[in-house]
Amino acid sequence: MAAIAPGYAIDLHTHSLRSDGALPPSDLVKRAAARGVKIQALSDHDTLAGVAEAVATGSGLGVRIIPATELNTESEWGDAHVLGYFIDPADSELEARLRWLRENRGKRIEIMVEKLNALGYAVELARVLEIAQGGALGRPHLARSLPRTRRLTSRASGSIHLKP
Ligand SMILES: [Zn+2]
Repeated sequence: MAAIAPGYAIDLHTHSLRSDGALPPSDLVKRAAARGVKIQALSDHDTLAGVAEAVATGSGLGVRIIPATELNTESEWGDAHVLGYFIDPADSELEARLRWLRENRGKRIEIMVEKLNALGYAVELARVLEIAQGGALGRPHLARSLPRTRRLTSRASGSIHLKP
């Protein structure tokens, strides 16, 4: 019987510290390379800021990086996450739009922090920003800022979904 491959050679959906992932782009690419990935899309939310670093690391490890981004939007069926591939990181018009989306994310997170505080959860915006390390803010940063014993279940966090 043929050995089953431990993973896929292509990973089309990854997030680094530039949005809500846990690793810097270079470490993310190194980890993918170690898993046998040859083609990796860096699809951070609302930013292409990690692409150059990922490409630089990937070129030394035989991993081709596809510049990508993930945009959250709403549809008649609910939240929709749209992935865009082969995006030009030098497109200034797109970057202006992505910057607007990132600022909007910041405002949404501020509102969520206020709502959590009102519910009795001791969350500080400063701590959320510290965890995000300058990346596009997301709910995972908020979740990680909660004291371990007070983390919300996914069902509970669903109750603080906010409309734009
Ligand atoms: Zn994603």
